[in-house]
Amino acid sequence: MPTRLKIAVQKSGRLYDDSLKLLKDCGIDLKNGINKLKTESDNFPMEVFFLRDDDIPQYVEDAVADIGIVGENVILEKNKKVSISEKLGFGKCRLSVAIGRNESYTDCRYLQGKKIATTYPVLVDRFLKEKNIRAEIHEISGSVEIAPGIGLADAIVDLVSSGSTLFMNGLREVETILHSEAVLIRHPSLGNVQQQILEKLLFRIRSVRKARHTKYILLNAPNEKLNEIIALLPGMKSPTVLPLAEPGWSSVHSVVNENDFWEIIEKLKGAGAQGILVVPIEKMIL
Ligand code: ATP
Ligand code: ZN
Repeated sequence: MPTRLKIAVQKSGRLYDDSLKLLKDCGIDLKNGINKLKTESDNFPMEVFFLRDDDIPQYVEDAVADIGIVGENVILEKNKKVSISEKLGFGKCRLSVAIGRNESYTDCRYLQGKKIATTYPVLVDRFLKEKNIRAEIHEISGSVEIAPGIGLADAIVDLVSSGSTLFMNGLREVETILHSEAVLIRHPSLGNVQQQILEKLLFRIRSVRKARHTKYILLNAPNEKLNEIIALLPGMKSPTVLPLAEPGWSSVHSVVNENDFWEIIEKLKGAGAQGILVVPIEKMIL
């Protein structure tokens, strides 16, 4: 059997859908089997292992998997010998300190002598040391947010994205310890073939991610306004300008960044652009 790149992804949970979607957008089709532990691709030399996210750094350190997709928070907590190849832009969250909504809080000295429940004892310990605070860390494996309510702890350190879980449990966020997103990790020394497959994969991931942030824009412009309109469109090199059948008008094509998108549209309209079309880009090779 030809060499395959072995990737570990979360079996179920918050990273599962986005991890599989990323592989799919990279053109990697996975066989749908009944095997819930692993599968492989027919059109890319890859084998996929489905694991608990907490175990992924260890599997990659041990070279059972060559690469893996996991939250930075897990990498930093576990301290394994793996390297981060690429940030992936999903699974964004922060590791935060939260306390009872009605407690008064001025700064992190509040935590002095308190009990803190968390699933991230290493990161909490590091934070407390940096701030010169002594506190008692209670490591628990889940449902950290209920700890203050049942008298197990005075404060918690947990992952937060919208904050609604904290709110529903009568807690409020008072400090952020770190920001995290999903990353692609790799074993520090891969075989030549695995290295080459990884580079192919990274090339595809970067093309997919660039495209996700960018839109293709088409518009019609009166010729006398072309210079003004072109100046608003950064494009990859410069915009494409084609004459329209109607004299005095041109069609302008370019790409715009999603973040600048609404502002540019307003300015384009102001400058006399008409019939503006904005379409998603599937892949972007630079
Ligand atoms: P597993 O069964 O694999 O151990 P889990 O319960 O530990 O799953 P999930 O809750 O699915 O893990 O979270 C996986 C990752 O998703 C986290 O480690 C983190 O990087 C990211 N994440 C993004 N937003 C959040 C959030 N609001 N709460 C928790 N994790 C989040
Ligand atoms: Zn987990």
